[in-house]
Amino acid sequence: MEYKVRFANPQKQYADHRDEFLKVFDETLSRGAIVNREELWKFEEDFAKFAGTKYAVGVNSGTSALDIAFQAAGIGPGDEVITVAHTFIASVSTVYLTGAKPVLIDVGKDFNMDVKLIEKALTPKTKAIEPVHLNGRLCDMEAIMDVAKRKGLTVIEDAAQALGATMKMADGPVKRAGTFGLVGCFSLYFAKTMGGFGNNGIAITNDEEIAQKMKLMRYNGEDRESRKFYYHAHNFLMDNVHAALLNIKLKHLPDWLKQRKEIAEKYREGFSTLSRVSLPHFDDPRFSDVYTNYVIRAERRDELKKHLEERGIETLISWEIPIYEEPVFAEPKFNKGFGTPKLISEGGESNKLPETEKICEEVISLPMYPELTESQINYTVKAVREFYN
Ligand SMILES: *Cc1c(COP(=O)(O)O)cnc(C)c1O
Repeated sequence: MEYKVRFANPQKQYADHRDEFLKVFDETLSRGAIVNREELWKFEEDFAKFAGTKYAVGVNSGTSALDIAFQAAGIGPGDEVITVAHTFIASVSTVYLTGAKPVLIDVGKDFNMDVKLIEKALTPKTKAIEPVHLNGRLCDMEAIMDVAKRKGLTVIEDAAQALGATMKMADGPVKRAGTFGLVGCFSLYFAKTMGGFGNNGIAITNDEEIAQKMKLMRYNGEDRESRKFYYHAHNFLMDNVHAALLNIKLKHLPDWLKQRKEIAEKYREGFSTLSRVSLPHFDDPRFSDVYTNYVIRAERRDELKKHLEERGIETLISWEIPIYEEPVFAEPKFNKGFGTPKLISEGGESNKLPETEKICEEVISLPMYPELTESQINYTVKAVREFYN
C-alpha cells in the first residue's frame, strides 16, 4: 500500500539537506577520519553546550548510553532502581544488566512517572531513580530531585525521547532534559527528536569523574591516553562519520523543535471539538514539550488505527502491553531468574499498574516530524474526525 502520510520520513529530511550531508561525508572519509576523531569530539562539545552540561559521551545507541550511565554510577547487585513500566524496554533492561532490580511505579495522565508513588516505592535498597521523559515531555523533575536529595539517591534520566524539552524550576532556572540528575541519556535513533543515520546515542553529565568513567566504559574500558584497560566493558563508541553527519543535524535542531511544536498546535486545533480522544496537551506553564511523539488516547483505538491505515496514514502503538507482560518476564523459558518486577500503584505493592494498563488499550501515535506538510496534517485530522462522526 502506498502511504499518503508515513509515520516517520527520514528520506525527506535527507533530501532537504542532501548536499550538506554528502559534502561532510566525503570530506570526513577522504581524510580517513574513521574512529574517535575531531568530528566526534566536536559533536560531543556542541551537544553538551546545547543540552546544558559540561560533558557529553557519544555512543552507538540510547540503550548504550543508559548502560554506561548505570555502570559509571556504580549501580549493581543488591540495588533497587525506581522507574516505570510504560516505557521502551531498554529503560528496564539496562537496570537488570547491572544486576540491580527495577521497581516499576505507575504513571500519570501525562504518561510520565507518577511522582506521588516514589515514596511508596522506597526501601533501604533504593539506590537510584530513573525518570523516563516520554514523548518529548519532562517528568516533574522538581518533585523527583526533591525526593532524591532528601534520600541521597542517584538520578539517571532516560531522556531518549526528550531532547530539547524544558521545565522551569521554582527557584528560577529553566532546565533542559538530561541536566537534572547525575547523567542524562539520549537516543539518536531515526524516529526520535534528532535521529542519526545509524542507531546513535549520547550521555551527558556535569560530573568530570563520571564523564571519564563513561568514556572508558564505552570503549572496552581503555584509557586512550595511557593505553591501559580499567574495566571489562563493551565497545559502544559512536562512529566518527555518524558524528560528522550529526554535527549538521544539530545546527538544524532548534528549527526542527519549533516545527514540532507548531504541528502539535495544529493537531490541537484540529481535534479541539472532538470529545472521544484526549490530547497530549497538559497546560502546565512550567513545561515546554517537544512532541517527539504525538500520542492521543482514543476510544475504539484499534478500529481507529485500521481506519487510518485504510486511508494511507501510518500510525504506531507504543505499547500494546506493559513491560511486565513481555515474554522476558512472563515466559519461564526466557525469564532467566529475573523474577517479576516489583510494581507500585496507588495502594502500594500491587500485581498490576492500572494507568499503565489503561494506556496500553487507548494510545495511538500520529505522524509527527518537522517535514510533515500542512496538507498531510489536515488530511490526518480529517480522517480522525471522520472516524468519530
Ligand atoms: C528509544 C528509547 C531508548 C533506547 O534508545 P535506542 O537508541 O533505541 O537504543 C530508551 N528509552 C526510551 C524511553 C526510548 O524511547
